[in-house]
Amino acid sequence: MLAGFRNLSGTFSLLFSSSAPSVLPSVLSLTQIHCFLTSRQSSVHRHPPTRCLSRSAPSTGPMELKEALQVLEQLAPLSLAESWDNVGLLVEPSKPRAIKTILLTNDLTDAVMEEAEAVSCDLIVSYHPPLFRPIKRLVQKDWKQRLAIRAVEAGIAVFSPHTSWDSVKGGVNDWLVAGLGSGQVSVLSQALGGASHSHKLEFMVRNTEELSAVEEELKACDGGATLQFSGSRPDSSSLHGSITCSDSALTPSVQMLLRHNTPSQSLSIQKLEKPPLLGHGQGRLSVLDHPVNVATAVQKMKTHLGLNHLRLALGAGKTLESSVSSVAVCAGSGASVLSGVKADLYVTGEMSHHEVLDVAAKGTSVILSDHSNSERGFLTVFRERLAVRLPAEVTVLVSKADRDPLEVV
Ligand SMILES: [Zn+2]
Repeated sequence: MLAGFRNLSGTFSLLFSSSAPSVLPSVLSLTQIHCFLTSRQSSVHRHPPTRCLSRSAPSTGPMELKEALQVLEQLAPLSLAESWDNVGLLVEPSKPRAIKTILLTNDLTDAVMEEAEAVSCDLIVSYHPPLFRPIKRLVQKDWKQRLAIRAVEAGIAVFSPHTSWDSVKGGVNDWLVAGLGSGQVSVLSQALGGASHSHKLEFMVRNTEELSAVEEELKACDGGATLQFSGSRPDSSSLHGSITCSDSALTPSVQMLLRHNTPSQSLSIQKLEKPPLLGHGQGRLSVLDHPVNVATAVQKMKTHLGLNHLRLALGAGKTLESSVSSVAVCAGSGASVLSGVKADLYVTGEMSHHEVLDVAAKGTSVILSDHSNSERGFLTVFRERLAVRLPAEVTVLVSKADRDPLEVV
């Protein structure tokens, strides 16, 4: 009978922990099942993306686009991107084309597109998404639409990782904070696991026949795709059922259970917490192993970012000789992520005049590099990581035409 249920369960796992352990030695208890599910949901945390590559050794020969995208997403899962972002494959040519040349750029501009065409690029990886807001037409007068059309006509794919690179452990923000030297680094805005199963429903059924019927109906609620099922027999007169389901499957699952007499009287619903993905998230705080003074911090960041000039706002009561033992960074435009963070120094690309005044008044000094100058240097780091995971025939280039639109004159 138990084996029969297991067969019936299809994509579900139907388990009985207390009724007959001796005949089902491999069965897990509900607690164990919960741990199993939790560990599956936490898999990104337990196996940092930079170390869980399936393509352990580069193969030979040209790559298909989907293979290149797999490698890119293994290096920084798109699930780490912010919900408001527009990451992933943004332009896909109609004709399949072997990927032989990949061009990395911070921004996709006309100059970078010309460079891409000149080097016969097959795939542009643009850190900032060139297509961000929804568009209702594709015309020449809008420069971003013009670039998208040009990419399509040239048969060049465009991929954008944006905040997935900011968030991933070892990504843009870890690279940025490393400019001040080694330290105890923590994440400012913790990334959470994108667990597909967000709710747990528990209920009783009278017998195995009802359990089977309920299970079949639950499968129909969500195509069986996002439901997981377990059952146990706390006493001889009833069975305990439990499912975890996605947000989208919650309402139809509850509606279905309420149509059954015993489940409707015993139904309880729990919202499951998403697990923190340690090391991943927006912004970084580093307590430096070797504190420096403000002047040295500026010099170190100039060297790290490859810039001759930075802008500095000294915190209230601070001088160039004041000690910096903690630094908070956020690549790009960092005011919201850095807001309220206690540190001797903030490093980011841009903040508004009033945001800088607020921070400096609290005694925190601020280094601004201009937006993309706080991001662009990571392209070189990423190029190395990507190249070793691709066949030798694939060339990965960092754009020479890409630059911040602002310069000190
Ligand atoms: Zn940015």
